[in-house]
Amino acid sequence: MEMAVPTFLNTLGRRREPLETVTPGRVGIYTCGPTVYNHVHIGNLRTFLFEDVLRRSLRWLGYEVTQVMNLTDVDDKTIRGAEERGVSLDEYTAPFIESFFADLAALHVEPAEHYPRATRHLPEMIAIVERLLAGGFAYLKDGSVWFRIASDPDYGRLSGIDLEQVQQGERVASDEYDKEDVRDFVLWKGAKPGEPSWDSPWGPGRPGWHLECSAMSMKYLGESFDVHCGGVDNIFPHHENEIAQSESATGKPYARFWLHAEHLIVDGQKMAKSLGNTYTLKDLLARGCEPRAIRYLLLSVHYRQKLNFTFDALEGAAGALRRVDELRFRLANVPEGAEEGTHAAELAAALEGEFAAALADDLNTSAALGALFRFVKAANIAIEEGRLGRGDRARLLAALGGIDRVLGVLDPAEWPSERAAPAGPSDEEVDRLVAAREEARRRRDFARADALRGELAAAGIAVEDTPAGPRWKRG
Ligand SMILES: [Zn+2]
Repeated sequence: MEMAVPTFLNTLGRRREPLETVTPGRVGIYTCGPTVYNHVHIGNLRTFLFEDVLRRSLRWLGYEVTQVMNLTDVDDKTIRGAEERGVSLDEYTAPFIESFFADLAALHVEPAEHYPRATRHLPEMIAIVERLLAGGFAYLKDGSVWFRIASDPDYGRLSGIDLEQVQQGERVASDEYDKEDVRDFVLWKGAKPGEPSWDSPWGPGRPGWHLECSAMSMKYLGESFDVHCGGVDNIFPHHENEIAQSESATGKPYARFWLHAEHLIVDGQKMAKSLGNTYTLKDLLARGCEPRAIRYLLLSVHYRQKLNFTFDALEGAAGALRRVDELRFRLANVPEGAEEGTHAAELAAALEGEFAAALADDLNTSAALGALFRFVKAANIAIEEGRLGRGDRARLLAALGGIDRVLGVLDPAEWPSERAAPAGPSDEEVDRLVAAREEARRRRDFARADALRGELAAAGIAVEDTPAGPRWKRG
């Protein structure tokens, strides 16, 4: 298959650009990970699934991928949580880290190559602060180190933020800070009494959140790397500040491409504790939702568009997957005697070509699924019309298996919840096959009618012809 060079809408510059990587054929991706102070919600999971489909797509398109996802295991929330429970930071975050990886596994997310933890990368963070101080980009005040925004004339290049407005809006909040300029952000926070802290040349303290991601991305991917991802709410200030401090420290461009996933909303509303619509994966599984339907729904909308999560949409996703299951089942049981020809090769090539083109077009997953369902429809018609033979099924099943390396929703063997109930035709599908057999008998096409009866028998469906018409039952 010809490998298309993907293009992406780069938040930096807001332009569509073909992917150019530091090293041809390889791509380094940094993905901001969770702050491990609670269980992640499905909005977070939408972003992590977008990143999973990104890495899978790039691999499918032929790239060698190195993905880094950090775990923020020290910040105000984790420190407060540990204090409240009277345990160490590590003890406090351990169950949330475990829960996070369990969620990723349940949603069939491919593991990243590196999952660095902030608390294990203090020397790298301190080294960046030292470079910034030495270059005059930062200053020390009362045990904390601040980044000096005025030293970066390009500040705001990612978010397009209007710094005058920031200054106005934050004036009140700034009273409690002792910094040169209200816009300056903290690199290193001097320790308050009783807080967990690490030694530094400036006394005990802890890193600012933005600094964590700069240190861990550059450690594993180099000072200049290819793609940086996150949710739209990371653009400002988190990613803006990462760029400012990284490029000031190294004098080199930081990440080339910035991709941001839009918000997930629930029933048309923002998720909020007060509305009781902030679902975790565990909440959905407890309601009996199928993990692969959740995965399908979360990747069915283009990542740059808001995704409206509803239980109806989740049911729709489960139904869509059953249609693919049914086709796979029918393909595996194509009756003897059907003709073989070029039709299967055409169908498979159309699926693969359209699917690859959709992904190369700024990771358009909804268009990629459109290609899948055009294929499902065309293949079902071809089976109906007797245009697919036993020799064709391997090619078609292989095409489906190929695109599932990206989607990760089809292979039942990989989904524990599916193993108990092997996919077979739904009642509606059986009704349709039985009606098609009746129609063939009416046309006196007995070969076709027998083939359909054979297909039904292979699915464990017995058809009995009665004066009132055919009846069927599962055997
Ligand atoms: Zn980050």
